[in-house]
Amino acid sequence: MPLKPSEQEEEHFARMEYERKKKIEEEKHKTLAAGEKKRLQEIHYMRCPKCGMELIEIDYKGIKIDRCSECEGIWLDAGELETVSKLEKSGIDKLFSVFKK
Ligand SMILES: [Zn+2]
Repeated sequence: MPLKPSEQEEEHFARMEYERKKKIEEEKHKTLAAGEKKRLQEIHYMRCPKCGMELIEIDYKGIKIDRCSECEGIWLDAGELETVSKLEKSGIDKLFSVFKK
């Protein structure tokens, strides 16, 4: 089904916004010393990007999903959102049921 013009426009603006922000970040990264990058990784590794608490990693069918132990945000590594989006609806339900209390 072809996208409506307004949907194409939203996609376009979202992509432009992403490209703009990515460029800014790439410039910042160039000026970071290697040691500083390593230091930042050590501080933030497996920590929630929103609240800073530890992430709990679960493995569901080879998809490693990190969930915050505090705010319950869910974080995915590169490519995992695509993998999750290809699961059947029942697979996605099972995935979320892992986190249910
Ligand atoms: Zn959190």
